[in-house]
Amino acid sequence: MTRACSRPACSAEAVATLTYDYAASIVVIGPLSFVREPHSYDLCARHAERTSPPRGWQVIRHAKLAS
Ligand SMILES: [Zn+2]
Repeated sequence: MTRACSRPACSAEAVATLTYDYAASIVVIGPLSFVREPHSYDLCARHAERTSPPRGWQVIRHAKLAS
């Protein structure tokens, strides 16, 4: 089972899930989740690395991502 990166024009395999916590202004990047949640996006390794948060937000990166 593979899922593709959710970024436009990117068809790489997703390895991470990015979740926006709007209440706390935190972006969480963690291992690919098996359950799709609201406000979450699947990302490939490259896009997970490059993701930067909106101004004023914090980023929390969980343990090493599989590559
Ligand atoms: Zn990508």
